[in-house]
Amino acid sequence: MAGQIRIQQVQLLYEQAPLDIIANLLVAPLLVVATWNALPQTALLIWLALLETTVMARLGLTIAFRRCSDATCAIECWSIAYIVTCAASGICWGGSIVLLNLSPALVYDTLIALVLGGMLMGGVLTMSSELVAYVAYALPLALPPVTWLLVQDDPLRGTMGSTGILYLLLALITAYRYHHTLIRSLRLGLENLSVARSLAGAKEKTEEINRQLAEQQTALRDSVEALRELYQVISTPRRRASEKIQAMLAMGCQRFAVSTGTLCHIVGERCEITQTIPSDGEIPQGEVLALADTYCRDTLRVPQPIGFEHASAGPWRQHPCFRKYQLEVYLGTPVRVGEELFGTLSFSDRKPRSTLFTVVDRELIQLMAQWVGGVLAQERMAEASQRQQTLLAHASRLNTLGEMASSLVHEINQPVTAIALYAEACLARLAHQSVEPAELRDTLEKIAAQSARANTIIQRIRHFARRGKTHHTVVQIRELLEEVADFLNLEARRHAIRITYDTAEDLPPVLADPLQIQQVIINLVRNAVDAIDGREDPRTIVISARHEQETVELTVQDTGSGLKPDILGQLLHPFFTTKPEGLGLGLPISQAIVEAHGGRLWVTSNHGPGVTFHFTLPVAPPAAAPEYVVQSERTAEPVSNR
Ligand code: ADP
Repeated sequence: MAGQIRIQQVQLLYEQAPLDIIANLLVAPLLVVATWNALPQTALLIWLALLETTVMARLGLTIAFRRCSDATCAIECWSIAYIVTCAASGICWGGSIVLLNLSPALVYDTLIALVLGGMLMGGVLTMSSELVAYVAYALPLALPPVTWLLVQDDPLRGTMGSTGILYLLLALITAYRYHHTLIRSLRLGLENLSVARSLAGAKEKTEEINRQLAEQQTALRDSVEALRELYQVISTPRRRASEKIQAMLAMGCQRFAVSTGTLCHIVGERCEITQTIPSDGEIPQGEVLALADTYCRDTLRVPQPIGFEHASAGPWRQHPCFRKYQLEVYLGTPVRVGEELFGTLSFSDRKPRSTLFTVVDRELIQLMAQWVGGVLAQERMAEASQRQQTLLAHASRLNTLGEMASSLVHEINQPVTAIALYAEACLARLAHQSVEPAELRDTLEKIAAQSARANTIIQRIRHFARRGKTHHTVVQIRELLEEVADFLNLEARRHAIRITYDTAEDLPPVLADPLQIQQVIINLVRNAVDAIDGREDPRTIVISARHEQETVELTVQDTGSGLKPDILGQLLHPFFTTKPEGLGLGLPISQAIVEAHGGRLWVTSNHGPGVTFHFTLPVAPPAAAPEYVVQSERTAEPVSNR
């Protein structure tokens, strides 16, 4: 700051110089004119010439200073030069002592003294910014004339001399004060300037921060909006993975303002369009492209999304994909299913985009890709679990058949024995040649009927033992029970237990895999048979079905041993059994099957002996799927309210 003040000090000196120069140029000639007839003219002219020379020197210096482009560099030199010219002026004014000496009367002395006093006081204003300059000017100007006046043997001149000393002191003190006030105001000015500058800097910074904040706020609002859209898509319940992904592609197209959204599955150099929106787009679903002809190839190379808005305006126009499909806009990112790279999720358009993809857009597509990866992983797991469940259910059915083997053998044995007896009777009649064709036909018809009965049982077993994929269809519970009744009655008859069916007439159809639901019913009935076995009357099982809001509830009620409270909690645990030959899988498998159908399985204790197992199945939505057709004709007792 001191340097700055110094510069301004000298600048001020040169700024004030014209005033001083004008004063000198006017006052000195006036004095000469006023004393022209009283003083020797040669002396006057010499004095004037010398004085005006110093004034001219100061004028030249001032002009040079103003013209100098970089005067601040040599500020001290400029200051010294000016001080020298001031001193020279002062000396010339002080040289007026010669004029005083030649003065013929007091009035001229007084005039000269007045002019000198005026010049002394005028210098205070124009030179005080550089105190040395003023001192260099004032002392040679005032001291010689004052001293001359004091040494004259004249009281009036002596008084003038004393007054002159007082003037000199006053002028020096004023100059000193004026100088310090000036320096203070210069310092204040500079401080204000620096405060103003730092304020301006702070203002600029604040404006910059405000601008950044506004940008961040917009980005934040944008992210919230994007997340809301994403949430809407993922929170809408949809059954199939493909439906979910299709909804996500539609949302992406809308959000990124592009026409096409695509999910590609990439294997080696093949890029298969697994899903696309619009579905009737230029590259249809299922189409397989060469990976090198797609932007997917580049998308897979980097973990971050790739995006551009105007391919033809940049290096992307050289890409084979652009040459082939003219896709101007592209935003794509890799999709992973677990650790495995599945392919890419991308959004594209043939028309260039006027706005750039934002950071939020890029983050959003990454979130979308993660979600799509999760949906695909879930679908794979669901498929695997369904396959396992199908296998387990099949194994369980085979196990049931194995456990029912003796009953089944007995059941088949009956018609086979009857056939053998009828055949023997025929043969005996034929041996005695006493056979009437009508009688023979009658016996043969009985053989045919028994054979049909055996065949029906075998068909049922084959149907039940077959291994098929889980197949949900619209099923009428009454028909389902009719079909399985043979098996149930068989078991019950062998243990002298009565099965009663109690199904409402107006039961709505359910959506289920018939074979699996039959398996559940058989499991529950066989458990009921085991629980009743060895107990006194009543020995009954009641199978009922009723419509409960959006479900059909089936129950299997027995009069068996019931359940002790301590085993209630373990009942549905795999491998929990109280039977010596039991596997402990019947109930867990039944529960898994029911839950996979969207239902629930539970048990309650009866008021009398035994327990009741309940399970629900959701009512089929109207026109959900083709209706289930009973596989083979029944031969056993019909299922009805008995
Ligand atoms: P398992 O029949 O091979 O034992 P389950 O899972 O079908 O396997 O049954 C598990 C256990 O639950 C049975 O061992 C039995 O103790 C009990 N349980 C099942 N159903 C009944 C029932 N109706 N009455 C009494 N106990 C039952």
